[in-house]
Amino acid sequence: MDFTLTDDQRGIRDAVLEHCSRFPDEYWLQRDHEGVFPHDFHRSMAESGWLGVAVPEDVGGGGLGITEAAIMMQAVAESGGGMTAASSVHGPVFGMQPVNLFGTAEQRRRMIPPVLTGEHRICFAVTEPDAGLDTTRLRTRAERRDGGYLVNGEKIWISVPTPSGRARTAPRTASTPSPTSWPAACACSRRPSPESPRSRRSRATSATWTGCAGEPNGSAGTATGGCSPSTPTRSR
Ligand SMILES: Cc1cc2nc3c(=O)[nH]c(=O)nc-3n(C[C@H](O)[C@H](O)[C@H](O)COP(=O)(O)OP(=O)(O)OC[C@H]3O[C@@H](n4cnc5c(N)ncnc54)[C@H](O)[C@@H]3O)c2cc1C
Repeated sequence: MDFTLTDDQRGIRDAVLEHCSRFPDEYWLQRDHEGVFPHDFHRSMAESGWLGVAVPEDVGGGGLGITEAAIMMQAVAESGGGMTAASSVHGPVFGMQPVNLFGTAEQRRRMIPPVLTGEHRICFAVTEPDAGLDTTRLRTRAERRDGGYLVNGEKIWISVPTPSGRARTAPRTASTPSPTSWPAACACSRRPSPESPRSRRSRATSATWTGCAGEPNGSAGTATGGCSPSTPTRSR
């Protein structure tokens, strides 16, 4: 297989490296000492259009592919920000793909653009205590209720969960029996909460998702609504 980058792909890599060079080691060291999210970096990546690199132009993206997104993320991780920088932007870049692919036209229009502009920050909540890479073992369930879904389950290792106020998760619905089928994608949102010092410190947390009134699309199980994760606790 030929892994040689095309001219366009090299252009992406160079542009991202140049962008990241505006955030020197001192910037990341300061964020590390303060234990806060790199808001300036995240905003600058949104303003430059990088958060939407892999989603179509009709929802405000750049219309490129996952390969270009991976090249971009590698360049981000290569910068002084390392995985801290990469983790601050990987949610928008990769996490919205299920909404893009399986959401209704209305859900795509409503959920994706504010994430790409940086107005909404999201994390993705997939990993569970007994399910890591093998997502066929996921147990979180989404049950249909009037006007949406009720989501019950336990999630761990969720990067930057609290400040975002929103999570793209992957519960099972009644129509996705465990353990042989893939779970449905579900984008949950809840009211934004102030960034507490505790949540700002947390890098990997567990949260029990006790409720989510979503808006089903009737087919793929994509939903959004008000979630109420319990107080996040540090794990592992
Ligand atoms: C810093 C950090 C941040 C994270 N942030 C998030 C987040 O934001 N959201 C989220 O949902 N999760 C997050 N995670 C969780 C992370 O994605 C999981 O750790 C990952 O899915 C692996 O799951 P696991 O640790 O249970 O390992 P397992 O899935 O149990 O895997 C253990 C080992 O077995 C190997 N293995 C597993 N399956 C196979 C197979 N079929 N064949 C061969 N080898 C296999 C793996 O390569 C690995 O070496 C984060 C983790 C870390 C460390």
